[in-house]
Amino acid sequence: MQHAIELDALRTEVGAAAGPMANAVSACVHCGFCLPACPTYIELGEEMDSPRGRIVLMKEVLEGGLALEEALGHIDPCLGCMSCVTACPSGVEYGELLMPFRELAEGGRHRSGFDRFWRGLMLDTLASPGRLRWMLRLGRLAAPFRRLLPARFTAPLDLLPRSADRAEVEFGTFPAVGERRARVALLAGCAQQVLAPRIQRATIEVLTRSGVEVVVPKEESCCGSLAFHAGDAPRARAAAGALLRVLGPAGLLPDVDAILTNAAGCGSGLKEYGLLFAGRPEEETARALAAKVRDVSTFLAALEAPPPPLAQPLRVVYHDACHLAHAQRERTAPRRLLAQVRGVTLVEPRDWQICCGSAGIYNLEEPELAARLGRRKAKALLEGEPDVIVTGNIGCLTQIESHLRRLDSAVPVRHTMEVLASAHGAGYPAPAR
Ligand code: SF4
Ligand code: SF4
Repeated sequence: MQHAIELDALRTEVGAAAGPMANAVSACVHCGFCLPACPTYIELGEEMDSPRGRIVLMKEVLEGGLALEEALGHIDPCLGCMSCVTACPSGVEYGELLMPFRELAEGGRHRSGFDRFWRGLMLDTLASPGRLRWMLRLGRLAAPFRRLLPARFTAPLDLLPRSADRAEVEFGTFPAVGERRARVALLAGCAQQVLAPRIQRATIEVLTRSGVEVVVPKEESCCGSLAFHAGDAPRARAAAGALLRVLGPAGLLPDVDAILTNAAGCGSGLKEYGLLFAGRPEEETARALAAKVRDVSTFLAALEAPPPPLAQPLRVVYHDACHLAHAQRERTAPRRLLAQVRGVTLVEPRDWQICCGSAGIYNLEEPELAARLGRRKAKALLEGEPDVIVTGNIGCLTQIESHLRRLDSAVPVRHTMEVLASAHGAGYPAPAR
């Protein structure tokens, strides 16, 4: 049985997001095809922890038939992975219901003072490279005492990279090698600048050697995706507003062919700017920017610039980041890029559609469920006997690395651009063990 919600009442609560929310509710025919694709349903086995169950719960809350706090126990564990959207034959845009619902829920829920402080601290720290560097130093000092700490503090410690890459991301303009085929703006990202700056170097290397001029604007800040996906829309809008001034129509936008990101979470958030600013004065600017955003793999695959062969054969198991495969519906481009590198054997893992448990700050807020998913994912990826595991998102990379360590595996996890950069040579280290 399909459901409908009363639009006028909803508009007073969520404004322009009401239409898409109501559409998502009414499009669901309750067929249940999404259930086996949902990581939380697989782990918890409860209808209310499935996409279908959550749609009903959100509808009930929006109509006033269910208390918000009763529903949140099932809505909060949702990873926002959008695997259900890929699986749904009826085209239910679950994200267009979930994201505004989470914003609404933040206003109505009770969080203790400490919870609010801790959440804000995590979001602000991950969004600021300077703060994150300090937190990493503190985290390494605290690591020997982890057994004495409660789970919410040990979760970030468990995700710390084994060794620090102290290099800094470079800003400025990087000219194309040979004839210029395109000019792009490349986001430097926030957490990735600190956790794995090598990804940015590899991306610039690959792009410039493929005939692309790359501009990395120094003034760029966090795009706000992390906060948006965590339900903190005001924080996300503040960050996104600053980015619009640098990369929007009054900034770099008219001078570049595309705005590229090498972090799937940022890419999906940037493409959702229209939803984030729906009904606000910035909406048109936000939609203009979103229309030019591409994941670097999508952009490069369309450019048709195959790299030279690898020096040694490499068995690659590719992990689909949910924010690329489901939210941006891009599974083909990274596979095409990897498959065209001579020397690469591309192996498909079991359960590709199931999230690794990273999901922005999910693995910090829901550490137990995230750990179950991380362990399941690491095991599935290792079944492919990889020399290297490759993905297109810093969150997945960190989560999978952490769970491989717990399984005593030394298989490295790298970004797609790192494999291509290795093929291009240029002194870039091969992503071998
Ligand atoms: S697959 Fe789509 S239509 Fe079917 S229950 Fe899930 S969300 Fe609803
Ligand atoms: S977004 Fe992911 S976790 Fe949430 S309901 Fe859909 S499949 Fe399940």
